[in-house]
Amino acid sequence: KSVVAIVGRPNVGKSTIFNRLVGERISIVEDTPGVTRDRIYSEAEWLHSTFNVIDTGGIDISDEPLIVQVREQAQIAIEEADVIIFLVNGREGITAADEEVAKILYKSNKPVVLGVNKIDNYEMQELLYEFYALGFGQPYPISGTHGLGLGDLLDEVIKHFPEDLDDDEDEDRINFSLIGRPNVGKSSLVNAILGEERVIVSNIAGTTKDAVDTEFSKDNRKFKIIDTAGMRKRGKVYESTEKYSVLRALKAIERSDVVLVVIDADTGIIEQDKRIAGYAHEAGKAIVIVVNKWDAVDKEQDTMKKFEDDIRKQFQFLSYAPVVFLSALTTKRIHTLLPMVIEVSENHSKRVRTNLLNEVIEDALAMNPAPSIKGQKLKILYTTQVSTKPPTFVVFVNDPELMHFTYERFLENRIRDAFGFVGTPIKIYARQRK
Ligand code: GDP
Repeated sequence: KSVVAIVGRPNVGKSTIFNRLVGERISIVEDTPGVTRDRIYSEAEWLHSTFNVIDTGGIDISDEPLIVQVREQAQIAIEEADVIIFLVNGREGITAADEEVAKILYKSNKPVVLGVNKIDNYEMQELLYEFYALGFGQPYPISGTHGLGLGDLLDEVIKHFPEDLDDDEDEDRINFSLIGRPNVGKSSLVNAILGEERVIVSNIAGTTKDAVDTEFSKDNRKFKIIDTAGMRKRGKVYESTEKYSVLRALKAIERSDVVLVVIDADTGIIEQDKRIAGYAHEAGKAIVIVVNKWDAVDKEQDTMKKFEDDIRKQFQFLSYAPVVFLSALTTKRIHTLLPMVIEVSENHSKRVRTNLLNEVIEDALAMNPAPSIKGQKLKILYTTQVSTKPPTFVVFVNDPELMHFTYERFLENRIRDAFGFVGTPIKIYARQRK
């Protein structure tokens, strides 16, 4: 999917435009309780294209002088995006910071579309002309607050999308990524996996941008580790900023079937781990929780059990994800990882038979009838699996309002128990059918 970044000095309206572009999407995305959201990266849609949008303004490189911040955000945009929306404030004219951004973008050779924001009405159109001086051709007038002009701007943006380079039509291959905060041992784990017996590395592909994916096979199964470049290439100024690594993680998650959420056993679970895991969950990916550096933990009786209990408590939304304790350093239990990846991936793409599904739902109803809401009784007529990755079910009911989320959760658990969906989220939607 193509990536569009919005760049510009502070207060030109980047977040407003970002929210305009992705707003409707975000409201239908389920929010995971207990996980704070960073709205800096999201999917958007225009005509027949879906693409991802980055709000570089959300990546605050705090403590830095304005000009440095603006410069680094522009740099991130250049590195991560296929097309850049350069946003300026029509009411303030060109400022020094705008010129700074322009200079950087100019050198990048990335397509840039110039958006002039805060042009709220037709009379203000004449403010546009001075922006030709920035050197990016026609400026597009928009009004973030009124939602005007975005269509024309997006038409132009879409024209610059690269041809679809999708090399992921290989259905048998499992694409997975390792996600976690710096130093949990992601790169070490990648090396340990690739160093396993009978692992044959076939291709370390430098795809677009600087993502380096590694393809390999083991026991005739094909795998691809997504975006290890973020792990291997280090030392950039902004690599250390949390939101930038979040951005990298989100991009890797999106391209994965399975996400390994890596935790450092030695330092325990922190808020950042939860947030990262929350993204993988919301993206609907199959998930394995990997507790690395298990060698470094002083073990007593029950240490593993206690750690797992803690994980279950901290990651309540990942109750379906299996937990593996291992060590990249000693390679202990590394060999259990790929079989686990295969298992959760199969569950993630599993389709269940409709008649069996409806039997399970009927049994569930008989065991635990739906509670009435305001004297009204929920009737479930029929359930069907509408898609996979993740498995998604539609329950046809008399009135979707009567489907309480606790009851939905109950049905989900019945489906899980009956069909064994270890490691994958499941989505259930209630739809009306009279
Ligand atoms: P990344 O930032 O997540 O890619 O982490 P690295 O793979 O670079 O590892 C960070 C540090 O943790 C390095 O010093 C590794 O040697 C160390 N490390 C990685 N895995 C293990 C492990 O299983 N046990 C121990 N004791 N140290 C580890």
